[in-house]
Amino acid sequence: MSYQVNEKGYYGDFGGAFIPEMLYPNVEELRSRYLNIMQEESFQKEFRQLLKDYVGRPTPLYFAERFSEKFGTKIYLKREDLCHTGAHKVNNTIGQILMAKRLGKNRIIAETGAGQHGVATATVCALMGIECVVYMGEIDIKRQAPNVARMKMLGATVVPAKSGSRTLKDATNEAIRDWINNPVDTHYIIGSVVGPHPYPDMVARFQSVISEEVKKQLQEKEDREAPDHVVACVGGGSNAAGIYYHYLDNEKVNIIAVEAAGEGILTGKSAATSALGREGIIHGSKTLLMQTDDGQITEPYSISAGLDYPGVGPMHANLFRTGRGEFISVTDEEAMAAGLQLCKLEGIIPAIETAHALAIFDKRKFEKDEVVVVNLSGRGDKDLNTYIEHFNL
Ligand SMILES: *Cc1c(COP(=O)(O)O)cnc(C)c1O
Repeated sequence: MSYQVNEKGYYGDFGGAFIPEMLYPNVEELRSRYLNIMQEESFQKEFRQLLKDYVGRPTPLYFAERFSEKFGTKIYLKREDLCHTGAHKVNNTIGQILMAKRLGKNRIIAETGAGQHGVATATVCALMGIECVVYMGEIDIKRQAPNVARMKMLGATVVPAKSGSRTLKDATNEAIRDWINNPVDTHYIIGSVVGPHPYPDMVARFQSVISEEVKKQLQEKEDREAPDHVVACVGGGSNAAGIYYHYLDNEKVNIIAVEAAGEGILTGKSAATSALGREGIIHGSKTLLMQTDDGQITEPYSISAGLDYPGVGPMHANLFRTGRGEFISVTDEEAMAAGLQLCKLEGIIPAIETAHALAIFDKRKFEKDEVVVVNLSGRGDKDLNTYIEHFNL
């Protein structure tokens, strides 16, 4: 049994492409060409070169000695926080901008909630001199002013979505409408392992450079390619997909997915999709999502903007349903404490998303000689105000 996508675009029961007919030509063009393009030598050469010289890869695999001592196990941190723009998201946007160029597109659209994916997209559009339009809910534009400013400085046009709740899902609707109206010249850069096939697989492949590097780095440090556990926080699931990718079908490696419980799973203010979600369709793919009895998507909540998403990608829905992945949820409070703990013990200020993954060590025991690799998905500079408020700094 494989936990990779099958040729129909499914991970077990999840995935597929549930899209309006008018979107079919765009998605089909991408589906029929993405694998061939990614396998071209010139594509790989350009992708690898940019990851090295522009993003700063390979990122270190760092043995966190004091953090390990505290929890009585061997903890390694994969330092995606050191990527250009401060998180793993740029691995995917670099890949997709090259894909767009190969497909002959000269205009990029994206949607963003917290603005992190918008910034990563605006960054690669500036790099390539390609027009960039980012849809963002009107409310999010107010809440995330620094990222809106970044996008503008990078030359992107930020378009407010003024319908519905004026947040992420409304921005997504606007982006889809734009794509339907501009099928020939425009590529839609999706920011996580979500959306209709082939997006989840394509994004996972671009992010898989993370576990490709971990295999080599762990070989050097521990004389083995595979850790006992790989750990990542899951919003849509792209940093997780990246660090799981080369271990998915090696069942000796335990996969741990950490979701945001918000104020608590049963409080109504949570984003713990595996605990609360049921099968449904969101963003063009069949997956687990939080919804009411009559199928309306429920508004998620987490202190971390990047985990504040009502679904998970189909790869992760399948890891949950099959039991291949161990799912743990972490509250706002627990994550904030773990984030501060990493600051004090290792001198690294993590993103609050990442802090969720770090919080599991307070909740779950590991053996002394086990090797645990945690994806340090991003740095905490963007979250400084939340840290200041939370800890009265
Ligand atoms: C966006 C983001 C996430 C969540 O997105 P995934 O697709 O689940 O990885 C996690 N960590 C950081 C630092 C982010 O910016």
